[in-house]
Amino acid sequence: MSEVRFLASCPECQRFQPAGAPACSACVEWIDADIETAWAAQVAELGEVIERHVAEAVLADPRGVPWRVVDAAMLRVPCYACGEPSGTGPVQCEPCRFAHEHRFLAAEPDRPDVPPGNEHAIRVSTVVARWPHWFPAHVVPLYASTLPLLYAGDLPTTPQAQAIKAWVDRGGDVAVFAGATSFTDVRSRMP
Ligand SMILES: [Zn+2]
Ligand SMILES: [Zn+2]
Repeated sequence: MSEVRFLASCPECQRFQPAGAPACSACVEWIDADIETAWAAQVAELGEVIERHVAEAVLADPRGVPWRVVDAAMLRVPCYACGEPSGTGPVQCEPCRFAHEHRFLAAEPDRPDVPPGNEHAIRVSTVVARWPHWFPAHVVPLYASTLPLLYAGDLPTTPQAQAIKAWVDRGGDVAVFAGATSFTDVRSRMP
């Protein structure tokens, strides 16, 4: 996850991975593997520890902790109110909402040779694609479809991002983005 990844097609949905999340289970698995790899590396670095203890410590103060490690920790600590993994419960669950919002305090250091803010965009789009119930349904496919481009090191300009979002808000279908290899390409496909 520390290097730029090139666009690869999903064997299940044929879109660039993981653009098919959350509907495509293979794309969801791709996201989960990305998160779990970071968690495994973090735990290995700590030596002999009880994972649950690490997870609880991370959630107590996620500041400065790599964002994938925070997301993995949340999945290992059940919400005391609803019993689901922390931050994944129903939108009415206040502790889950707090945990969901709190996760954005995590660290999002950019990889080398990407535009500043690329990692933040990956972080946000991953949460939308993987835990979509916190977000308006119509924006979920948009965020998911940007992930392959972001992983490949691209980032939309502010005018591009605004134009694409406005188009989706007006009912535009992100299916027209399928196969796009850059945000400039995405922008050019919008009517
Ligand atoms: Zn897929
Ligand atoms: Zn909950």
